[in-house]
Amino acid sequence: MTMPDAANASADTRAAHHLAAVHARIDAAARDAGRTAGSVTLIAISKTQAAQAIQPLLDAGQRHFGENRVQEAAAKWPALREHHPDLCLHMVGQLQSNKAGDAVALFDVIHSLDRPSLLTALARAMDAHNRRLPCFVQVNLAKETQKGGCSPAQLPALLDAARRSDIPIAGLMTVPPAECEPAPWFALLAKIADDHGLTGLSMGMSGDFPTAVRIGATHVRVGTALFGARVA
Ligand SMILES: *Cc1c(COP(=O)(O)O)cnc(C)c1O
Repeated sequence: MTMPDAANASADTRAAHHLAAVHARIDAAARDAGRTAGSVTLIAISKTQAAQAIQPLLDAGQRHFGENRVQEAAAKWPALREHHPDLCLHMVGQLQSNKAGDAVALFDVIHSLDRPSLLTALARAMDAHNRRLPCFVQVNLAKETQKGGCSPAQLPALLDAARRSDIPIAGLMTVPPAECEPAPWFALLAKIADDHGLTGLSMGMSGDFPTAVRIGATHVRVGTALFGARVA
């Protein structure tokens, strides 16, 4: 057993400090909106972060993490999971249908279900692995071509198909357009979810998670506010 060196100790302190600060902002926003503390799940988005950067958050009790690439997650998380079997891994990035099997084996929740072909591939993979992963349907509210997500018009058919394939739908997910006020987009997602009787809302990132919580987010996806700027 060696003494932790000063650099590691300060990285630990910083991560735990950021985590506490983000939790405090979530709790304050939830209180503002008359919501109970604990009604929001903080997902630490650890894409591009090495295991050494993730470990201090695990030590501080954080258990929900998100990644946006299957391959990167496969390289990092099985080893971390061995020591933390209770952690919950969320896939938040665009998912190719040919990676559905790997994704179902590796992740616990999918936030990027957005088209019938992916739904079919996920249903098949869930049958093969004999586990049903809760999925958020990603909605591309502003119909931005570079982003994943179904259009609001495509959503009802996708929800019907999920029901027929016995895929549990946790709710809706969105990434609003950059450079614009996010609140109206969050409110629109909340309204669409409500219209479909869905309660889960995966919305809000480092720049706007308090706003998302005030509008009803149940899952916020926060990267840089916890880990600092991404290098890659
Ligand atoms: C990277 C990413 C996040 C986190 O973004 P930050 O601005 O670093 O908090 C959230 N959601 C998705 C889908 C992402 O790809």
